[in-house]
Amino acid sequence: MTDIQIRTEGRAGRITLTRAKAMNAMTYEMCMAIDSALRDWRDDPGVALVVLDAEGDRAFCAGGDIADMYRTGTEGDYVYGRTFWRDEYRTNALIAEYPKPIVSFLQGFTMGGGVGIGCHGSHRVVGESSKIAMPECGIGLVPDVGGTFLLARAPGRLGEYFGLTGARMTAGDAIRMGFADAFVPEDSWEAAKAALIASGDIAMLDTFVARPPEAGLTPEAEEVINRHFGGESLGDILNSLSSDDTETAQGALKALRRNSPISMACALEIIHRLRQGTPSIRKALELEFRFTWRAMEHGDFLEGIRAAIIDKDRSPNWQHATDGVPPVAMSMMLRPLGKDVLTFDDKETGMKIGFIGLGNMGAPMAANLVKAGHQVKGFDTADVTVEGATSVATAAEAASGADVVITMLPNGAILRAVADQIIPAMAPGAVLLDCSTVDVESARAVAEQAENAKLLPLDAPVSGGIGGAAGGTLTFMVGGSERGLAKAKPLFEIMGQKAVHCGPSGNGQAAKICNNMILGVTMIATCEAFALADQLGLDRQAMFDVVSTSSGYSWTMNAYCPAPGVGPASPADNDYKAGFAAELMLKDLRLSQQAAESAGAQTPMGRAATDLYQTFVEDENGAGQDFSAMLPRFSKLNG
Ligand code: NAD
Repeated sequence: MTDIQIRTEGRAGRITLTRAKAMNAMTYEMCMAIDSALRDWRDDPGVALVVLDAEGDRAFCAGGDIADMYRTGTEGDYVYGRTFWRDEYRTNALIAEYPKPIVSFLQGFTMGGGVGIGCHGSHRVVGESSKIAMPECGIGLVPDVGGTFLLARAPGRLGEYFGLTGARMTAGDAIRMGFADAFVPEDSWEAAKAALIASGDIAMLDTFVARPPEAGLTPEAEEVINRHFGGESLGDILNSLSSDDTETAQGALKALRRNSPISMACALEIIHRLRQGTPSIRKALELEFRFTWRAMEHGDFLEGIRAAIIDKDRSPNWQHATDGVPPVAMSMMLRPLGKDVLTFDDKETGMKIGFIGLGNMGAPMAANLVKAGHQVKGFDTADVTVEGATSVATAAEAASGADVVITMLPNGAILRAVADQIIPAMAPGAVLLDCSTVDVESARAVAEQAENAKLLPLDAPVSGGIGGAAGGTLTFMVGGSERGLAKAKPLFEIMGQKAVHCGPSGNGQAAKICNNMILGVTMIATCEAFALADQLGLDRQAMFDVVSTSSGYSWTMNAYCPAPGVGPASPADNDYKAGFAAELMLKDLRLSQQAAESAGAQTPMGRAATDLYQTFVEDENGAGQDFSAMLPRFSKLNG
């Protein structure tokens, strides 16, 4: 991903936002990449701490990327936004509760989504250019990403002031407000990072810390704020400010008159509710999510974005007058979400998975998911069961309520038929993950159908065979969105050792078909060369010793040698009992020819390999034998 760089250096996990042109605005994919890196590093003894920074001078991160939320929201699709917020908030909690130090360097603007990742870690560094703000009430949201947790713990009534007005904090203000911990002059940031990375010792940071500059807010201004922002309701605060001519009071009043009334009323209520007990990040996020979940449908969010970002007319048409938010409207936005409540289950376990097609590949893949702690509902027309998975009677039943539905089926026609049954049963936002090998056209048709139903489709055929499925070492070639990939990533890590993102829907199948066309062609070339060597009186071992270290080497020669007793152990040593059956090779070669024909591509070697495997399987009893049994076939024909 070009928007973020994730790597380990020295003793540190390093995350750098590299979307400087867009002020490092946080996309869903960036957020999920951070989430997954932090989970990987949590138990990695090589990572002592995490350094989180961003490229560019203007901003650490100026907020969440709301373009897609606006687009989908105006189309009446609220699922994207809700999924984004839900997953982002879980990442915010993960950062706040992380067991290792996270050091963030917050230059320029840190706002909204930037606060969510930059201001919950253990060591938050600000410098001369830092400007931190929670301006959400200006676009019809409430301060979220855990911002209300920080606001509720700020001194006096400063939390209410900064949360409702969206005013910017300087470095000094941010430290006083609890949004930052340490001031380090920006010209020593690189040295500070280098020391942390080399040592893995968080105490190194202290050597760079300087006295923070004066807070931007004067003690007089703070006194004015505390006097007016202690009101019970937004109306109380407005009344109180109206009676004060000071610059601070009038400035605050002006900001409040600009922002969304329902957002400010609810933000105030959330801060008050958090203060009633001991504020916690989870409680704050749970309350914020009640608002954001409803913000597009019932709040001012879409209108706020229109006025601020789309039309830029800066004259939003809010639902309520500044001093006229009915209490019932506020309670409606903040009432509990029932089954949609924000939870903080560890996303790596406890996913609800529907698994359809429990054959040679599907059964061991499903078993690995069960072992990893996921709840699997399995269905197969052949009545197969997998230990620990719940067997259900229909494909639709397996799909209903699942976070991810996995299909592992014989071909594209069956996949299409199963898709017709399961897509209507799946919840919007769920992932449809097809791991079968099918034609590109079927993969793209099913993906389109799934997208129309607001699902996240992925085509992710595998290589690695039955052994890879049992051992959890498959390679997945994935077509589909980054969002879908991010959601399915924990499952790929259980079922396999590698998932390569190949582009949009269908590209996973395209990669698989191209790979297996090379495999079929090279297996035939390897087998015919061995048979030729026999005819020429060249010893097979000598042939292997030369070719496996010369320019004719290939996976089929070096790792899967078709000559018995030569090279590493392979099906040839087991009387060609199928590891990868010849008829499956034929299936994949036919898919390659079908794809080549529809794409207008010339594949003469692929054609020849298809014809040869077809003859072998259909006319020469090759079905059931390994695809490397082409060698005895050629030997027989050569006499
Ligand atoms: P398989 O025939 O053993 O399993 C397919 C399963 O799907 C069977 O159990 C069958 O009963 C079930 N099924 C068929 N129609 C169904 C329906 N309508 N609803 C529910 N279940 C249904 O095949 P496999 O070897 O497990 O391969 C599965 C897929 O993986 C294929 O697309 C194959 O090309 C691909 N693949 C296989 C290998 C391998 O080495 N076996 C390697 C890579 C990829």
